[in-house]
Amino acid sequence: MSGDNDHKMVEDREFKFCPWCTSKLAERQIDGKKRKHCPECDFVYYRNPAPAAGGLIIDDDKVLLVMRKYPPRVGDWSFPAGFMEYGESPARCCVREVNEETGLDVKLTSSFKVYSGNDDPRTKAVLIMYIAEIIGGELQAGDDASELKFFPLNDLPENLAFESHVRALNEYIEYRNTGRLPDPNE
Ligand SMILES: [Zn+2]
Repeated sequence: MSGDNDHKMVEDREFKFCPWCTSKLAERQIDGKKRKHCPECDFVYYRNPAPAAGGLIIDDDKVLLVMRKYPPRVGDWSFPAGFMEYGESPARCCVREVNEETGLDVKLTSSFKVYSGNDDPRTKAVLIMYIAEIIGGELQAGDDASELKFFPLNDLPENLAFESHVRALNEYIEYRNTGRLPDPNE
């Protein structure tokens, strides 16, 4: 479901014009990197990854995954997760996204690890993973989920949507088996 279209989306997202004054941006060497700069108003396009938060929801050795309803990676499975709103905390984002996609109310029990997301065609991302506990609500696919399922940790689907989610799942399983948190240096 991914592929060429995804890559095209990345190219299309580069700013060509200044978002402040609409002049054409030009490339310039700034702070040791080639960046887009506005010759009229001095705007510099510092391109940053977008922060996202997601929930590891475990019930009886099974993990809750969401089947994606919209691109990218339609039909693939991922954690309930999503991009942070401006001014929102990562924790609040995680609780909100879980609720929007699964109908469940959760309480975060601990932070897990932070991952780079470099294979989402919309933007490079920073994925902040939490371990969460269900405290209410009713399991129902909503928002951008087409299906929800608790998968046994030893029988996960092949088609996981993002590399960062694959890593988080593997490292969580390792953590369950050994009690050791994943190495934050990696
Ligand atoms: Zn400008």
